Amino acid sequence: MIKFTINENNNFMEYVKGKPYFCYSTEKVKQYKYLDCDIKCEVLIIGGGIDGAIANYYLSKKFDVALVDKGRIGMGCTSCATALLEYQLDDFASDLNKYMTKDEIIMAYNMGLEAVQKIEKFIKKYGNNCEFALRPTFLYTNSIFTVQKIKQEYYFRKNNGFDCKLYESKNNPFPFPIKCGIYVENGGCEFNPYLFTKMMIENSNNQSKIFENTNIKELTKTHNGNVAITNFGEKIVCKKILIATGFNWEVLNKSDLCDRFITYSIVTSPIKEISWKEKALVHDATSPYHYLRTLPDGRIIFGGEDSVFKEKPISESKCNKKYDKLAKDLFKLFPEMKGKVKIDYKFCGCFGTTSNNLGLIGESKIDSDILLFISCGANGIINAMAVTSVIEDILMKKDNPLIKLFSPKRE
Ligand SMILES: Cc1cc2nc3c(=O)[nH]c(=O)nc-3n(C[C@H](O)[C@H](O)[C@H](O)COP(=O)(O)OP(=O)(O)OC[C@H]3O[C@@H](n4cnc5c(N)ncnc54)[C@H](O)[C@@H]3O)c2cc1C
Repeated sequence: MIKFTINENNNFMEYVKGKPYFCYSTEKVKQYKYLDCDIKCEVLIIGGGIDGAIANYYLSKKFDVALVDKGRIGMGCTSCATALLEYQLDDFASDLNKYMTKDEIIMAYNMGLEAVQKIEKFIKKYGNNCEFALRPTFLYTNSIFTVQKIKQEYYFRKNNGFDCKLYESKNNPFPFPIKCGIYVENGGCEFNPYLFTKMMIENSNNQSKIFENTNIKELTKTHNGNVAITNFGEKIVCKKILIATGFNWEVLNKSDLCDRFITYSIVTSPIKEISWKEKALVHDATSPYHYLRTLPDGRIIFGGEDSVFKEKPISESKCNKKYDKLAKDLFKLFPEMKGKVKIDYKFCGCFGTTSNNLGLIGESKIDSDILLFISCGANGIINAMAVTSVIEDILMKKDNPLIKLFSPKRE
C-alpha cells in the first residue's frame, strides 16, 4: 500500500527562508510514497534536490539506484535557486589560477558550455516542461575599480577561443549604466529549477525506488554492506551511498565540508515595459555582486547580498534588511520602476563555496563507499549537470581527468 504524509515544511526551517518563487508559483505535480520496509540497492542517493535528481537520472540508467528525501523533492535550496545557468565560474580566471592551471580553467569553462548543451538535449527529449530557454550571459561592472578585471577576463576568454563581445558605456545596449561587460551569445540558459528537478525524477528509470518524507538518521556498515537507517528504523542496504543533501551535512555528523553562505533574492510583480538585450542573464561583478534575470511571466528576479551562514534558523530581521537593500539597488538600476512595481516574493537560502569554485563531487574523506554529490558556487547547477560522468566513472573504477578537480579530498 502506498503511504503519504504531508510534510512540506520539513526542508524550509534551517537552510531556506521566505517564500521561494519557484515552488510557490508552481503546481506540485506528484507525491512519492515514504519508505515503509527494508530495501536493497547498489547506490543509495540521499537527497532529492536538483543534485540528487540529476545524479539519479543518469545513474539509474546503469545501476540499481534508490533515492530518498526527508521532505519533498526539490523543496530545499533548489526551490530558491535563481537558475542563472552560466558557463563561467564565480571568480575571474585571473583569481582562479591560484587553484587551477590555465588548462584546467579552460576545461572548466568548456565543461560549463557542454552542460548547457546537455540540458538542452534533455529538454528536446522530454519536452519543455520547466520554462527552459537558452540565454546570452552578461558579466559587467559599473565601478571603475572592477573595469580592469573585466577587461583582463575578456582578453583571457578571447585569447583562448571563447566567443564573446566587450560592451562599454559608449556602446551599452542595456537599459542600466555600465562601465564595461562581457557578453556571450551562447553562454547560458535558464529554467524553473523546481520543475526541472521534477522532470529529472519523473523521467528516471527507477520510479519505484523514489521515496519522499524518508529521513536518513544514521549510516553504518555491516558484513552485508553499507546500511542507511531511517527515523522509523527502516534499513536500506547498499554498496555505495551518494550524499546529495545540499548544505545540510547532519547525516555525516559534519558541519564543515566547505564554506557556507546565505544568498538573498527578491522577485518583482510582472512588468510590461522593462526588458533588455535578448533577456540575457545579468551578473554584476562589483563587490557585493548582484545577479538578475527575467521570468516568463514578465517579472524580474534579483539577488545577491551574500552573508556568512552561521545561525540556524536564519535570522528573520537580517533577511528583511537584505531584501530592503536588494529592492533599493534594483530601483537604482531601473528608477522608472519605483512606485509602479511591487516586490511579490522574498527568500534566501544556503549555498557553499570552494577555492576553485567547483563542487564536492567524488569519494569522501570519511569512507570510500560514501561519495559526495554537492554542487557549489553560484553556478552549482551547471557543475552538477557537467559531472555526472565523474560519479559514473568512479563507480566503474575508470579514470576521468575531472575527478581531481572535483575531489572532496582537495578541500
Ligand atoms: C537564493 C539562491 C540562489 C541561487 N542561484 C543559483 C543560480 O542562479 N544558479 C545556480 O547554478 N545555482 C544557484 N544556487 C545554488 C543552487 O541552489 C544549489 O547549487 C542547488 O540547489 C543545490 O541543490 P542540492 O540538491 O544539492 O540541495 P537541496 O536542494 O538543498 O537538496 C538537498 C535535499 O536533501 C534532503 N536531505 C537533507 N538531509 C537529508 C537526510 N538526512 N535524509 C534525507 N534527505 C535529506 C533535503 O530535504 C533536500 O531536499 C542558488 C542558491 C540560492 C540559495
